[in-house]
Amino acid sequence: MISIQAQLKRGHFNLDVNIQLNERVTAIFGPSGSGKSTLLNCIAGIATPDTGKIFLDETCLFDSNAKINVPIYQRQIGLVFQEGRLFPHLTIEENLKYGIKNDQYVNFEALVTLLELSKHLKKNPHQLSGGEKQRVALGRALLSAPKLLMLDEPLASLDQRLKGQILPYLKLVADEINIPMIYISHDKREIAQITQHVVEIEHGKIKPKK
Ligand code: ADP
Ligand code: MG
Repeated sequence: MISIQAQLKRGHFNLDVNIQLNERVTAIFGPSGSGKSTLLNCIAGIATPDTGKIFLDETCLFDSNAKINVPIYQRQIGLVFQEGRLFPHLTIEENLKYGIKNDQYVNFEALVTLLELSKHLKKNPHQLSGGEKQRVALGRALLSAPKLLMLDEPLASLDQRLKGQILPYLKLVADEINIPMIYISHDKREIAQITQHVVEIEHGKIKPKK
């Protein structure tokens, strides 16, 4: 369960949200500029709300009154962005293993198999297609054994054909891996393939359910 109460003003933009996400997979939908990434950044610890409280299960990540602001690397949140943001000088295997901490048990082989990355492990990112790179980014986020996985328009930079290729993997992760997930997109058809639980945001505010 994730509860977010956050207010943040940046220039003319005001984010003002108060929501609880109780489903394992929730999509956040809204047009460009509506505040989706800002909301994600607040949860991840990339942006700091002016006021509010953010909880991931029982853990307080942010509380402006109590002056709690857990740093990004301690929040245990896996992030996937629009462009893969892989390390260009590392192999795919090294990129994947980057986030694994010594004390974490993760089944590397199983994940590589699930995402069908076995034959790419020795390659460098520039040898992969956009869709393959996004699979690596997804794998890397999962291998950090996060308490929450957040994807910010992970398909937005791919063409229709590549989108179609990676959607089944995202669906697989949403269905098979027991990690809460927030999926951000401005594409309703894409969201419909991932989850039926959708929160809509517009001008920095959550739209009431119809
Ligand atoms: P989305 O991800 O839904 O496209 P964003 O959260 O990126 O929207 O942006 C929401 C609004 O906040 C936009 O109008 C954007 O221009 C504005 N914005 C984002 N970051 C800043 C900033 N650092 N300073 C001023 N305005 C910003
Ligand atoms: Mg965005």
